[in-house]
Amino acid sequence: MDFCYLCCLENEWGEHMKSHIIIHHSLTEDGQTVSWGAIERYHRETMGWEDVGYHAGVELIGGEYYALFGRAEYRFAAACKEGAMNQVGLHVCCVGNYDSIAPTDCMLNVLVRRVLAPWCDRYNIGAENIQGHRDYAHYKTCPGLLFDLNLVRDLVRRIL
Ligand SMILES: [Zn+2]
Repeated sequence: MDFCYLCCLENEWGEHMKSHIIIHHSLTEDGQTVSWGAIERYHRETMGWEDVGYHAGVELIGGEYYALFGRAEYRFAAACKEGAMNQVGLHVCCVGNYDSIAPTDCMLNVLVRRVLAPWCDRYNIGAENIQGHRDYAHYKTCPGLLFDLNLVRDLVRRIL
């Protein structure tokens, strides 16, 4: 059995301190195939991280949107270094480029019902703390100029 003091510390702190949800986009075209695996490989092999940087992803696969698991939720993310958001945030990446197209209703529906609302419920996070990467990294547009975060917060409030 492995024992790592750092992991245990991180685990304990991580589990109790999740206070925000941060939405990202991948800035790639969502090409109807599984990009999530490619993102994970890129983070592990090119970036040298232990795992994909986000805790969850949403992707269009064969005409349907799916929520996909990422890094374990009790681990710190590698997604937004500003504002201690890697430590206190749960991070979800929507595959696509939302600088050039708006998210579809179907995508938002899966994001809200499968990822955001369950996280808000499980970690007792208010909808106002669902934010975009750009709210902390002001030099970025992530999760995209056409991604309406107020709409997403309203959709979450409707089902919480
Ligand atoms: Zn981002």
